[in-house]
Amino acid sequence: MGNFHVTESGKTLVTLIPGDGIGPEVVDSTVRIIEATGAPIEWEERHAGERVFLEGLPSGVRQDTIDSIRKTRVVLKGPLGTPVGYGEKSANVTLRKLFETYGNIRPAREYPGVKTPYSGRGIDLVVVRENVEDLYAGIEYMLTPGVAQGLKLISRKGTEKIVRLAFELARAEGRESVVAMSKANIMKMTEGMLQREFVEAAKEYPDLETWHVIVDNAAHQLVKLPEQYSVLVTTNMNGDILSDLSSALIGGLGFAPSANIGNDVFIAEAVHGSAPKYAGKNVINPTAMILSGVMMLRHLGMFEEAALMENAVIATLEEGKAMTRDVVGDEKQAGTIGYTDEIIKNLGKKPQDWKIREYKPIKLPQLPAAPDYVKATTRQVCGVDIFIESDSDKISIGQSLEKIAEGREVFLKMVDSRGTMVYPPNDVLTDNVDAWRARFMLRDDAGELSDAQLIDLLQAVAQVHGWSHVEKLQRFDGEDGFTKAQGED
Ligand code: NAP
Repeated sequence: MGNFHVTESGKTLVTLIPGDGIGPEVVDSTVRIIEATGAPIEWEERHAGERVFLEGLPSGVRQDTIDSIRKTRVVLKGPLGTPVGYGEKSANVTLRKLFETYGNIRPAREYPGVKTPYSGRGIDLVVVRENVEDLYAGIEYMLTPGVAQGLKLISRKGTEKIVRLAFELARAEGRESVVAMSKANIMKMTEGMLQREFVEAAKEYPDLETWHVIVDNAAHQLVKLPEQYSVLVTTNMNGDILSDLSSALIGGLGFAPSANIGNDVFIAEAVHGSAPKYAGKNVINPTAMILSGVMMLRHLGMFEEAALMENAVIATLEEGKAMTRDVVGDEKQAGTIGYTDEIIKNLGKKPQDWKIREYKPIKLPQLPAAPDYVKATTRQVCGVDIFIESDSDKISIGQSLEKIAEGREVFLKMVDSRGTMVYPPNDVLTDNVDAWRARFMLRDDAGELSDAQLIDLLQAVAQVHGWSHVEKLQRFDGEDGFTKAQGED
């Protein structure tokens, strides 16, 4: 990265998006503190989110906002709401994807003065969440009026980038271990990709201790013994859930900062949303946004100002003189503004029982920008899955498909219902719906199913059943590029 936009007055230009609901209040606190540190920053205010949806722009992101980010490459962003009934996609997700901010970094560290059931155990971890792939790509279809499908797309390049980012972050922050969390035991191809790339990349980081945890156990371990973890890396959906869980361990969303990081653009934002019920009431905790601002300063190489700001926040929490409602309740709260004033007063103070880490710039993984075309030496199309719609019973469906295969180069290997084989007849107690998958394999296992044969088969199936989509079954270098159904041999 580097090469930020420097203004005529010698300051670094940052795109400022105040956001919706409580956004303007938490962003205002953050800007006031950053300015009080003397950090040489100039703001370019732009808008996205609710007000832009209401203007009729379905993306929720204005062109002048996109142009500003292209220029500055650094954003301080308040939460954006997605009003029900407007816009199909969240403006947050749009921003992350538009600028390929592929890594979402979410630290969770125990803070003094913030009582939780874990106080005193020294939680200090960072969740590194893949930010642009997985089910979050939002590629969804209704296969039938009653059956929905979401595509979980995971790429080798995407996983390599995220695991390497986690290793580099660990080194930059002087951390000693990196743990991968995945569901590779069940989703061997998609989640398994993260595990494989993690093991591969780990060979280049022998200074770090590395291990893999199945994600459900990771959730259990995070609640039971969170202090065992330092850096955790995972896919988008797992990371979304487990980073919120991690925030809860250290005092809740009011204390959960984050950074979206890519090769070109950096977006600092709190993990929380726009909490509209608290908007304009001067009661919300701005710490998450303030600490996101600290992450931004480090990204800009302003390490001294970042340390000044972090120390002042922690000193304020340690003293406990001016706290927010979520920590001390309605009666004793100082309000968002009072708490911010206190932090500004405390700039220059060092907390008594807290040491900030020695941060170094993160060396972002430098993978070639060119598309990642992974080549196989051999490739064979050995069959096809045809997804059909039918309200007939499984035996009749199976028999009708077997009849279609007669005299063709393929045979019906099986029919499944939501991943469980129901034909050839077996004794599974599957609760069936109207979406089925028919798997046809070549009779000659070493042969090649041509597109013409596949289309001919599809047309024959279409004479009898509705169909919604087709997946080629391929083998790459002799390895099946598809999984078996439950119960399929
Ligand atoms: P939310 O805004 O995060 O608020 C949920 C609850 O978390 C609040 O009611 C409050 O809990 C607590 N909370 C959130 N921020 C806090 C803070 N700074 N200090 C103290 N407590 C805080 O989630 P939501 O209500 O589900 O979503 C509202 C809108 O935000 C939606 O339109 C959603 O799409 C959007 N959203 C945006 C982002 C983003 O911009 N990155 C992220 C998530 C959601 P109590 O009620 O217990 O006090």
